[in-house]
Amino acid sequence: MAEKLRPLVAGNWKMNGLAASAAEFGKVVAGAAPLAGKADLMICPPATLIPAFAASARGSAVTVGGQDCHAKASGAHTGDLAAEMLADAGAVAVIVGHSERRADHGETDAQVRDKAQAAHRAGLTAIVCVGEQRSEREARETLAVIGRQLEGSLPDAATGANLVVAYEPVWAIGTGLTPTPADVGEVHAFIRQHLRQRYGAEGGRVRILYGGSVKPANAGELLTIADVNGALVGGASLKADDFLGIAAVYG
Ligand code: PEP
Repeated sequence: MAEKLRPLVAGNWKMNGLAASAAEFGKVVAGAAPLAGKADLMICPPATLIPAFAASARGSAVTVGGQDCHAKASGAHTGDLAAEMLADAGAVAVIVGHSERRADHGETDAQVRDKAQAAHRAGLTAIVCVGEQRSEREARETLAVIGRQLEGSLPDAATGANLVVAYEPVWAIGTGLTPTPADVGEVHAFIRQHLRQRYGAEGGRVRILYGGSVKPANAGELLTIADVNGALVGGASLKADDFLGIAAVYG
């Protein structure tokens, strides 16, 4: 029996946003008020904007997260950011293993797992992304691929509070394409089963987000599927109205 979990709608701004974007973020904060207690909202801006956004969101229904972290807490890693630095800047969570990082930086499941554990070390919630390529779905390998990614990328220990899993079919990201509700439901049920086997009762409390071309127009269909506990939103999170239009499903 699925537990009733408070949904999370997280926006991944990717490499978009300058100081002037504070106005758009302010609209998210203002518009989120009616959802307080019904859904958690989070924006993951570029790291440069975390301190300002976290300060302006304080006391609201919106939190701020990072988009990646290094596995180590400090050291000679030019250009990287430690999970501790994100926490220090005001983030409460960090996305790890996004398919763009797996593709652009060759991140492996083992590295993603180390990053998730680093997030926990720093007191952050790890949002671990998994998802199949189009060729893998066509070859009916989706569940095998997701199973391998979960096995390799998830931390050893986790709770419903410090782990979120995002199912993001790579072919659905930024393309306007989405899997059928039945396909989403199948993968989310599979992820839930894996989480329960791995973490026991806590595995039933880990939120599983769907990500990949979520828009206000399809949010009602995608976000009400069993074991879909919210969304990870890319493009549509850049416009406050669209992001809030998605979260309104839970209003
Ligand atoms: C993402 O990159 O995490 C994502 C879901 O992007 P989009 O919503 O633009 O497909």
